[in-house]
Amino acid sequence: MSVTEVDHPLVRHKLSYLRDRRTSTGDFRRLVRELTALLTYEATKELPTETVRVETPLEWTEVERIQGKKVAVCPVLRAGLGMLDGFLGLVSGARVGFIGLFRDEATLEPVEYYMKLPSDIGVRDAIVLDPMLATGNSAVAAVSAVKAAGARSVRLISLVAAPEGIERLQTEHPDVPIFCASVDRELNERGYIVPGLGDAGDRLYGTK
Ligand code: URA
Repeated sequence: MSVTEVDHPLVRHKLSYLRDRRTSTGDFRRLVRELTALLTYEATKELPTETVRVETPLEWTEVERIQGKKVAVCPVLRAGLGMLDGFLGLVSGARVGFIGLFRDEATLEPVEYYMKLPSDIGVRDAIVLDPMLATGNSAVAAVSAVKAAGARSVRLISLVAAPEGIERLQTEHPDVPIFCASVDRELNERGYIVPGLGDAGDRLYGTK
């Protein structure tokens, strides 16, 4: 399994504003969308393509297209929802599955409250959107659900990942590549990533 920390000036620039506590809710939302698009570019690099023939205004030629366009994007509610538009901006035909998990703040364990995945996920490459790979508990639960539904491959896009979460996901799902903007230092005693960017859901939706 691989971890790709996307190294690009635009990614570092946008992440710097996401980390800044003074960034407004509106700007935070826009930056999550933009950053997700940049990570999506990287995470879709290995999608299989096929050769088709098209006629340009000048002649017939062979071009490459994503094979069957079989992608299912699965945001983990609620913070993953903030990443959805950024993903769909690049992969507009993707089917969308919703994975409702919240973190029990006492145990840090994920609690499932909603699940709606595309019925044909068995013929699709799934991409799970979970902005903060912290303990890894919610990512592991989300990936397990998508695999149990039969997805033919699974990738994870996170904005920020902690070494603890990466290790946990690697142990449980060694076949799932992770794409993120930063691997941060550690988790604190409350399960927050440090330096991190705080509670992604609260900052996206202005609930704190
Ligand atoms: N969830 C968040 O939103 N932020 C963290 O730092 C960890 C989990």
